[in-house]
Amino acid sequence: MPTVLITGASRGIGRAAAFAFARDCWRVAVCYHRAEKQGLEVVESIRDFGGLAYAFQGDIRSPEACEALVAAVADQFGPLDALVNNAGISLPCQFQDAGPEIWAETLNTNLLGARNMIAAALPSMLVRKQGAIVNVSSMWGISGASCEVPYSAAKAGLIGLTKALAKELGPSNIRVNCVAPGVIQTDMNAALSPADMEELAARTPLCRIGQADEVAEAILFLASTRASFITGQVLGVDGGFL
Ligand code: NAD
Repeated sequence: MPTVLITGASRGIGRAAAFAFARDCWRVAVCYHRAEKQGLEVVESIRDFGGLAYAFQGDIRSPEACEALVAAVADQFGPLDALVNNAGISLPCQFQDAGPEIWAETLNTNLLGARNMIAAALPSMLVRKQGAIVNVSSMWGISGASCEVPYSAAKAGLIGLTKALAKELGPSNIRVNCVAPGVIQTDMNAALSPADMEELAARTPLCRIGQADEVAEAILFLASTRASFITGQVLGVDGGFL
């Protein structure tokens, strides 16, 4: 039974990914930041249908916390077969209002957080010459989004990280890919008005907003051996938006 660690798994896309991996018979390390109750609820629901899951707390902005998180998962489940860097934040505002704090917070979470988790998970993957890393970027990291300059830059950086690291780790049989979701129905978009959501749906060729479990299936595919000859790729899950 392979093991996956998913960051930001207490809600949204990470939560849906936790269920998708568990249904596919993976052991799931459900990582949460502050939402312990929701993290434990995800674990309970997975156990309810006979899956194997455990909750772990950690702040991906801290390299030390990421090392402790990976060590705790290894103690519980053994070495990781897959790492899903899903945790992220969006702090929309105009460029003139995005001061150094907003830039630092956005980059520290969306880009350096993935770096911290990969740095912590990599040693055991290198020893075993086995592993898959899936990063959750965004279509805005490809196209850019107005009023989301730091977020777009961070998600574009995550795509660069994915492609470069795939080249570096390929000879060690470690695959690195990312998904680039479009507009997905989660708390991240809770601040958007119904009119904004309708407009985004109208601009999407499939004429609707995406669901978290639709992104989760793409993440699971890239992490699984079904994608064994796929690395360095960006899989759009955006209803055709781009
Ligand atoms: P969400 O806000 O529901 O989930 C984000 C998760 O990240 C939360 O569980 C949160 O606790 C966690 N997190 C934030 N900061 C953290 C930290 N410092 N340490 C650990 N965990 C932290 O949003 P979501 O839509 O489920 O987003 C999941 C991923 O998908 C994010 O990377 C997001 O950028 C990306 N994404 C979302 C959309 C969308 O439309 N919802 C589109 C493209 C990409």
